[in-house]
Amino acid sequence: MLSAASEVIEKALKLAEKAVLCDKCFGRFFANLGFALSNEARGSSLKTVICMIASNLLNKGDQEAVGILMNIARTGFKIARELLVKYGLNAPETSPCEVCGGLLYEPLRQLAEKAAADLLRYDFNTYLVGCRVPGRIIEKEDNLRSYLEVDWGESIKREINRETSLIIMSKTKKKPDLQKPDVLVILDFHNMVVEIKPSPIFVYGRYRKLIRGIPQSKWYCSKCRGVGCSECNWTGKRYEFSVEELITKPIIEVFEARGARFHGAGREDIDVRVLGPGRPFVVEVVEPKKRSIDLAKLQEIINEKSQGMVEVLGLSYTDRSMIGKLKLSAKVKRKTYRALVEMEEPLEKEKLEALSKFFQGVTIKQWTPRRVLHRRADKQRVKKVYEVKVVSVKDRIFEVWIKCQGGLYVKELIHGDEGRTTPSFQEVLGTKLKVLELDVLEVED
Ligand SMILES: [Zn+2]
Ligand SMILES: [Zn+2]
Repeated sequence: MLSAASEVIEKALKLAEKAVLCDKCFGRFFANLGFALSNEARGSSLKTVICMIASNLLNKGDQEAVGILMNIARTGFKIARELLVKYGLNAPETSPCEVCGGLLYEPLRQLAEKAAADLLRYDFNTYLVGCRVPGRIIEKEDNLRSYLEVDWGESIKREINRETSLIIMSKTKKKPDLQKPDVLVILDFHNMVVEIKPSPIFVYGRYRKLIRGIPQSKWYCSKCRGVGCSECNWTGKRYEFSVEELITKPIIEVFEARGARFHGAGREDIDVRVLGPGRPFVVEVVEPKKRSIDLAKLQEIINEKSQGMVEVLGLSYTDRSMIGKLKLSAKVKRKTYRALVEMEEPLEKEKLEALSKFFQGVTIKQWTPRRVLHRRADKQRVKKVYEVKVVSVKDRIFEVWIKCQGGLYVKELIHGDEGRTTPSFQEVLGTKLKVLELDVLEVED
């Protein structure tokens, strides 16, 4: 018992002798001793005990503790200052805390209150506080800790985060959350500013692309790369509309977000429609100010604004893991396409039935299509065709439904891409084929 007592007192004396510290910084070196106690209370209690020890020595005419008493008096500690005066000694001038320089008092209170005020502009239930403090503070604290040889302490950042968190809690009545906070609050003591970073929100849905001629993602002008030039009519874009923009623009507006990232479960060519129940997608809403939006209403807004080009359905809230699932599943999911195909030599319906028979659960070997070779590596992929059904034939044109594995290039399955996709419809029918129209009818969920 006695040795434990003297250990704490010894360390406190050693610290008081070495450095001029505010109550909070002083107490922080003893942070793990005692619960429900602030570092400020720890610091001030230990300083009080030191003053009592010095007082006892001075009563016996022993001046040994005067140096330490002076150091404590420099921190502005009232008991030490009055004790010195009582024994006819001059109290020294006060000086700022050697570790925090006073940061833990007025600057902390200012930034914490600013954070609480700024947060009023955000829609959130939970928050997490972080901070940036000058390196010299951390360094000074580390040096003193190794000099003292204690492992009781906590870091100044933890103290700042905890104290700020308490101020924010009392001002906003919201709760801190270490795991999944709605907003991240960062106190930057270098520039004395507060940064608020709302966590992203993820919205899942399916889209139908009702017309041809719009790409899935925003397509920058190849000449100016988005800056704007005469070629692109100063839009910076090659196409006026894209599925991505039609869906994300209203989302950004409604959530008052900084931006949005669109993730589709695979993609279709510009000239391909997406019909039926639509293609799944996830929109990552970046730094939204609003968090609880009525998605049914949002769906209406998107569909109204996209004027029959794109339609979304089944919007729901999801999380980040859904993006990976979408990407992964896009490669293995079954998809159903509808194609309108032109034949060089007209063939009767009976002849075309060969397609249905031949392409029943057939494996296709496919080299990267020539039309995308300029941007994709040339490699062979192996994909499955599950079912082919010829729906109608009129003169040299037939309509066909194709159910196949995700990731198969369907246009190439039809015309064979000069033998790079095999087997192909063209190969089996023995006449040259041209794809007139292609639609995605269904993407399996
Ligand atoms: Zn301090
Ligand atoms: Zn341009």
